[in-house]
Amino acid sequence: MLELLQAVQDYGTYGYENSLMGGMSHSGSIILMVVIGVIGYIVQARLQHVFDKYSKEAFPGNMTGAEVAEKMLRENNVHNVKITHVDGMLTDHFNPQNMTVNLSDSVYSSRSIAAAAVACHECGHAIQHAQGYAPLVLRSSLVPIVQFASSMATWVILAGIALMAFSGNTVVCWIGIAMIAMSAVFSIVTLPVEYNASARALEWLESSRTLQGEQLKYARTSLRWAARTYLVAALSAIATVLYYVSLISRRND
Ligand SMILES: [Zn+2]
Repeated sequence: MLELLQAVQDYGTYGYENSLMGGMSHSGSIILMVVIGVIGYIVQARLQHVFDKYSKEAFPGNMTGAEVAEKMLRENNVHNVKITHVDGMLTDHFNPQNMTVNLSDSVYSSRSIAAAAVACHECGHAIQHAQGYAPLVLRSSLVPIVQFASSMATWVILAGIALMAFSGNTVVCWIGIAMIAMSAVFSIVTLPVEYNASARALEWLESSRTLQGEQLKYARTSLRWAARTYLVAALSAIATVLYYVSLISRRND
């Protein structure tokens, strides 16, 4: 993606006789991307800090992330999902293909509040799947489309730039931008899926009285910062689309 940005940027700097308005909206979109990048960095650092902090808070009853996950699934009448261990950091995920909740090193056997919060969040996805939660269904159906679109977008945009240079025709460029925009749509659809999984996790932790008072607050804070990374990712995807739109409209002036 970076090389593509560079290629379009290089093209854009040829003959810089763009209109003042076009130039302003273009630099505006670059500033927007930089600002979102900085916010993303801050959110990531904050998330790391919060998780480090609540990884030191023992979970009541000394339960591991895997045990808490098992309990949450059972109490939500989900019996066909297995809890498994997966290597790596932050690799936790629910896999609907083989019906497993995969928990990473720092979650699976950890007996902390941060680990339990992540484990329960992943179980939230398993419960969404069991109940046919609409945004999750939509998100899953978008996966193959987005994979195809994002793998082809680079080539379509490069072809579009070549065509625009020779004939001034921008149609192919816009098709390429529409393909990039699919990734933005995907990251927007991801938001309700992620927020809802966290809401289900916290709801169960509270209603089952597994966590109470301050400890419930720790879990809520952990999941809130995790969700913000998805929000930043969505904003960043939107900013990328705006950048390309401003670039092509500027060339089109
Ligand atoms: Zn999630």
